[in-house]
Amino acid sequence: MIVARNNERLKNSRAKLTGSIGFVPTMGALHEGHLSLIRRAREENDHVIVSIFVNPTQFLPGEDLEKYPRKEEADRKICELAGVDLLYMPTTDQLYHEDELLISAPKIRGYILEGAKRPGHFDGVLQVVMKLLNLTRPTRAYFGKKDAQQLVLISRMVRDYFMQTEIVSCEIVRDPDGLALSSRNIYLSPEERQRALALSRSLKRAAKMIQSGERDTRRITAVMRGILEAEVDGLEYVAIVDRDFHPIERIVEGESIILVAARVGLTRLIDNLWV
Ligand code: AMP
Repeated sequence: MIVARNNERLKNSRAKLTGSIGFVPTMGALHEGHLSLIRRAREENDHVIVSIFVNPTQFLPGEDLEKYPRKEEADRKICELAGVDLLYMPTTDQLYHEDELLISAPKIRGYILEGAKRPGHFDGVLQVVMKLLNLTRPTRAYFGKKDAQQLVLISRMVRDYFMQTEIVSCEIVRDPDGLALSSRNIYLSPEERQRALALSRSLKRAAKMIQSGERDTRRITAVMRGILEAEVDGLEYVAIVDRDFHPIERIVEGESIILVAARVGLTRLIDNLWV
């Protein structure tokens, strides 16, 4: 596995890869969720590129940029064992220039839910993903449904700007008790982790209601709120949208996403279910 810490090395190593390329962008502290993306990229392409970069422009002032978990050595080993061909771990000065031309998330879909709670977050995500896709020029890029709104906005960017990469969406990987894997889960104390299970439990309950024939999104979100409010320290939103992030009043199976964001202790968690 080649490790490129600067663009020159990346460019030279990328030029030597022939055939299809699967790309998995991450912020590191790799877990089974990331690995499922890497494995899928491995299966579907001749070569795999992974990037690890904690992107400063997607963090808001006061968020956890400085204390975001960094596990460079372990991540490098994980990538090597997973059969990654090229690991790109740039420093910030490799990716950013002074007084840059900026990308804005779309006005409606980019500024609801996560975009409303974290204004500017998606601008930073799209900015870095555009850079990474242009640098790595992959055939396919793999993103988790865990970050549902991010996945939908990146798909729109690729469509709107006629970029030549196929965006592949990957299922959410969970711990056996239901907690969606996240690099931020290590912030949770054992007691907080127990209460954090309310997120996946509320989604499971929503799935049961839908199975029993419930279609009214207000009734479903009311039940979810009940489950969440008993456990979490700050419920940020419970929402049901279509696959293009328009809020909906009735569930249409195969076309809906149920989303939740909540704070447990000091940790902000998100989860969702595609139904
Ligand atoms: P991050 O390192 O948090 O930026 O995540 C990198 C990629 O891994 C993103 O496409 C995430 O959606 C994806 N990802 C993170 N957690 C999970 C998970 N539990 N299951 C599936 N994909 C995930």
